[in-house]
Amino acid sequence: MLATPVKFIKGVGPARAELLERLGLFTARDVLFFFPRDYQDLTDMRSIADLEEDKLLSVRGVVEEVELRSTGIGRSMLGVLIRQDRLYLRALWFNQPFMREKFSRGQEVLLAGKAALRGGRWEMAHPQVQWIDPDEEPPTGKMLPIYPLTEGLRQGNLRAIVRTALDAYVDLLDEVFPESFLAAKNLLPLREALREIHFPGSPANVLQAQRRFVYQELLILQLALAVRRHGQLTEANAPPLEATPRIDARIRRLFPWELTAGQNEAIREIAADMNRSVPMNRLLHGDVGSGKTVVAVYAILLAIAHGYQAALMAPTEVLARQHFRTLGQLLAESRVKMALLTGGLVGRDREELLGRITRGELDVVIGTQAIVRSEVEFAKLGLVVVDEQHKFGVRQRASLKQAGSNPHCLIMTATPIPRTITMTLYGDLDISTIADRPAGRQNVHTYLVRPEERAKWWEFVRKKLGEGRQAFVVVPLVEESENIATANIEATFEELAHGELEAFRLGLVHGRLPAEEKDAAMQAFREGRTQVLVATSVVEVGIDVPNATLMTIAGAERFGLAQLHQMRGRISRGAHPGYCAVFAETQSEEVIERLQAFVDTTDGFRLAELDLEMRGPGDLLGTRQHGLPPFRMADLSRDSAVVKEAREDAQRLVAADPGLRQPEHDKLRRMVLARYGEALDLGDVG
Ligand code: ADP
Ligand code: MG
Repeated sequence: MLATPVKFIKGVGPARAELLERLGLFTARDVLFFFPRDYQDLTDMRSIADLEEDKLLSVRGVVEEVELRSTGIGRSMLGVLIRQDRLYLRALWFNQPFMREKFSRGQEVLLAGKAALRGGRWEMAHPQVQWIDPDEEPPTGKMLPIYPLTEGLRQGNLRAIVRTALDAYVDLLDEVFPESFLAAKNLLPLREALREIHFPGSPANVLQAQRRFVYQELLILQLALAVRRHGQLTEANAPPLEATPRIDARIRRLFPWELTAGQNEAIREIAADMNRSVPMNRLLHGDVGSGKTVVAVYAILLAIAHGYQAALMAPTEVLARQHFRTLGQLLAESRVKMALLTGGLVGRDREELLGRITRGELDVVIGTQAIVRSEVEFAKLGLVVVDEQHKFGVRQRASLKQAGSNPHCLIMTATPIPRTITMTLYGDLDISTIADRPAGRQNVHTYLVRPEERAKWWEFVRKKLGEGRQAFVVVPLVEESENIATANIEATFEELAHGELEAFRLGLVHGRLPAEEKDAAMQAFREGRTQVLVATSVVEVGIDVPNATLMTIAGAERFGLAQLHQMRGRISRGAHPGYCAVFAETQSEEVIERLQAFVDTTDGFRLAELDLEMRGPGDLLGTRQHGLPPFRMADLSRDSAVVKEAREDAQRLVAADPGLRQPEHDKLRRMVLARYGEALDLGDVG
């Protein structure tokens, strides 16, 4: 049985079982799927007589002599002489004196690395080493697996256990893919892939086996997304809301400017979606300042024109308030009834407001996603707008449902997302992109300011403040401790208030402040009563103050490029050019290179791609709540081609068999449900 506890695997027993459990291995199945972290390549096993320079080779021999020499203060060289019959090779480690303890005379070892001939003798610097267990059979495979270990467990033990488990249990595993599928996709069958991932016959086989698991993992996700999408398309229970010429004209009259071509195109796509009884499920994608809010307002008014309610959800309360204000201004001339629902509203007032929503007396409710989602019951909800500003992802996203019908759903994001990620995070959505920006927008000049140039930068800031402009100073939130973070930003505030910006009026905003204080500080800055706003990265999310044209980002190395780009977007909103300075607290080459890319590039998409390359997907959105499902095998920056392939295959499969009901898809369906059923609300596929 695959659920057999590890202690019953032959040769394990209670003591080793405990060690295995420390590695998270409880059952035979766990052991089968405990993949090596690396391999030692023995494909090119040589005798010392046949060594060649500059090739990756393996050599087996016995430790003859171990010598550690000091080569200067804090420097050392460890030489380990390895004998093979009557020939010798010297393995060398520089400045790793601790390696000394690992060798003793008479031990049998396996070295892998590049050999070099020095003065007629063979040397190998910093080779990979395997200590061969006297009681382990000599390695037979071509590639030796290297597993993550725990104290008390050796590679040899683990290899033996995995081998036993493979022999005893692998045949109990069922293939998930139909046979025809395996052949067509050139994928290794599961059992073979497992054998090859543990004990591969060659480096190429490792890749083949990995490919199968990567593909499987990505296909399961894409199937989940495709099934969900298919369900939405066939539900057909949303209200069709037509944008008749009259309604269209009435809405547009409220906007004080001509819409851009990008905005108009997005509106056309949204109106077409909302005119169907299939719920809209659309992502509105546009760089900061591209004017997404107005597009959302159009959709909201379209719902209201047909007698429906709309919800607008923001990632933070600050942003919810700003949306409330923006909508209030745009809709001042209309009879739309709006309400802001925040955590601060309590008791009778809250009850009263919720009651009015439920009775249908309010048209638009604005609040954070958490509040609206959990507390509000609508009378007649026609549209949900989620301004997610990169804070939410696939797992948090499931539409606000109500009895009888589904609302249309529009998600806005300013994060330029590389295609690979879009397909993963938003794989079940249609996408509209606003590629242009309202006319008359200025570019932002960006500078990487070295420590010795900071005084000059502040002088420039003072000059611009003197001309009437305003400035942001962004201080990163140190994640480890909120207290330190607060101290950090307060210290910066004090330092500036009594130093470089002494002559100006400064405000302070950070997450720890009570809502009213946050609000008051934002309000003061918006109205120009404060000239400088010292803030944590809350300013990245949508704060709109056109007169603010200066931004100083301290500790910029802590932010992702996409996130920096978001922040920079705050200062390109008005008629004056923006100036952004990034300060780095470390001058490491890698940091400087990354920040230089930010200085050189104003294309948000390009920056997002660079981020993905440099920092990997986990960091891309600058927050752990990005909602990307955790992958065991797949790596989105490496496997983007497989993502695309899996997506196309999943769509084809679901088109042919929407509920994955055909017997040969049974296992796939069960896997999809087990992994994503709950997160993606796929209940009815079960
Ligand atoms: P974002 O896409 O970043 O959410 P906003 O919707 O906040 O952008 O719009 C940015 C700014 O541009 C706002 O001040 C808004 O009033 C203004 N704006 C939006 N559309 C236009 C337009 N077509 N012409 C001029 N200004 C516009
Ligand atoms: Mg916005």
